Amino acid sequence: MSQDKAPQQFDAIIVGAGFAGLYMLHRMRQLGLKARVLEAGSGAGGTWFWNRYPGARCDIESMQYSYQFDDGLQQEWEWSERYAAQPELLRYVAHVIERFQLASDIQYNTRVERAHFDDSAARWLVETNSGERFSAQFCVMATGCLSSTNMPKFEGMADFKGAIYHTGQWPQDGVDFSALRVGVIGTGSSAIQSIPIIAEQAAHLHVFQRTPNYSVPAQNGPMDPQVAREIKANYAEYRALGKSQLLAYDLKMNHQLAANATPEEIRAECEFRWQTGGLYFYGAFADMLVSQEANDVIAQFVRDKIRAKVRDPKVADLLSPTTVFGCKRICADTGYFETFNRDNVTLVDVSKTPIERLTTAGLSVAGKIYELDAIVFATGFDAMTGSLERIDIRGRQGLPLADKWQAGPRTYLGLQTAGFPNLFTISGPGSPSVLTCMITSIEQHVDFIADAIVHLRTHGQQCMEPLLEAEDAWVEHVNEVAGGTLLNSCNSWYLGANVPGKPRVFMPYLGFPAYVEKCRQVAANGYEGFKLDVA
Ligand code: NAP
Repeated sequence: MSQDKAPQQFDAIIVGAGFAGLYMLHRMRQLGLKARVLEAGSGAGGTWFWNRYPGARCDIESMQYSYQFDDGLQQEWEWSERYAAQPELLRYVAHVIERFQLASDIQYNTRVERAHFDDSAARWLVETNSGERFSAQFCVMATGCLSSTNMPKFEGMADFKGAIYHTGQWPQDGVDFSALRVGVIGTGSSAIQSIPIIAEQAAHLHVFQRTPNYSVPAQNGPMDPQVAREIKANYAEYRALGKSQLLAYDLKMNHQLAANATPEEIRAECEFRWQTGGLYFYGAFADMLVSQEANDVIAQFVRDKIRAKVRDPKVADLLSPTTVFGCKRICADTGYFETFNRDNVTLVDVSKTPIERLTTAGLSVAGKIYELDAIVFATGFDAMTGSLERIDIRGRQGLPLADKWQAGPRTYLGLQTAGFPNLFTISGPGSPSVLTCMITSIEQHVDFIADAIVHLRTHGQQCMEPLLEAEDAWVEHVNEVAGGTLLNSCNSWYLGANVPGKPRVFMPYLGFPAYVEKCRQVAANGYEGFKLDVA
């Protein structure tokens, strides 16, 4: 690191001004700590700042996908729709910043490039893209799970004369596709939300699909004021109900096993989930993600629905997934499958004949050139580890995090990794994170970190890091839990399978309530599994 100017001194540096960074800052201030948030973007909101593609919308209901740490906040904020669209989420973020007067400690347009632990001083030295340096006892990575884009490296990218976009790095001024020939690569959640809207604008839309995805109608609409009033009247109970469930939000969980249900009961339950919308399907049957037979029946129900929506049977076949339902995250859509009935939309199967290259005029598949004016990469993220590994993070004795995680991420509780004292990851790999309502998980992590810092300070200790054996045991446990389900059975980003060369390791922990209980026990037992000491 360059040494020309003394680093600015803080108790804590927080990297990222998404939901995690903002709440962490709020808690740090409550503890009387001097903290600074460093944010690469020109505004706050994290993943919602970058993902501005047409149709970007949360797939968890607004009344659940929101902060719960302050009752005044959750009572006063009024969501306009059942599922919040990206602009509304940014308005909410702005409101939170204003309400808790967070702005003065957030530094935008500041990309953290390095974070090195100084063994002798037991402090983190953080350096940014502009060469600014910060020294802090604690370094909190609030860098998000879905912030580092996955951009396939096709040959000829530089030759293409049209425009290239990635859904996860969408231009702030938006894009007008009117009268353009557009190609979308990918059929994950981002594509499924943007395709119906792009299709309405474009002269012609080609969708390049490698693997079809299950999608369920979101059933979005204006927020029902009566529903909002009822939830707000008992918000604490509603939040507690969410936190008691596997994915940290209310799924209207049906505890029955599909194995014990009649075909009529299964059909009725699936129809209820279809009509209720989106991710409620995760709560359909208790054995949906553990029993192949149960899953097959539910998957068939969804395939039948797809076939009923898509007029051309060949296109319907291509759009019908054969993988385990829910193995990749279920998508929530508005008019996705119906979009393929439009005359100006063509589905191109690239499962057996991959995209070969980009040319000046477009994109080539199986020797055919598809002429395009714009290509949208809806190709997802280097999830969970990407944004951490793109920063040069070094722990004790200069050990690079990327080296330690070469064979896959290793953490204790997704909060810390051995050899990197006082470095915390909010919703890190090994925590429930992406398998939950993220804001709920974020709050739980931030509170754990804040409590741990109080513990350190009241006991005159300075450093906290996991014991290697605790970390090893946790990594094994995370794998064991995933191994008992069908979640390992497809090439999902949960496994890093979407990024060429990324180690195949199931990264998130399935089971929010069990995780919270584990964290509670760890803290109650004096931060069992962590090493706490003076330096
Ligand atoms: P994704 O689920 O990883 O989907 C990426 C798509 O790009 C897949 O269809 C993938 O095909 C395709 N792809 C990648 N590389 C390709 C290549 N070289 N050639 C052809 N196709 C390629 O990414 P995402 O749609 O951005 O969603 C990621 C996650 O973000 C979601 O699962 C969800 O958790 C979150 N998200 C949430 C919302 C919401 O709240 N509503 C919206 C958007 C995203 P394969 O399947 O064959 O790999």
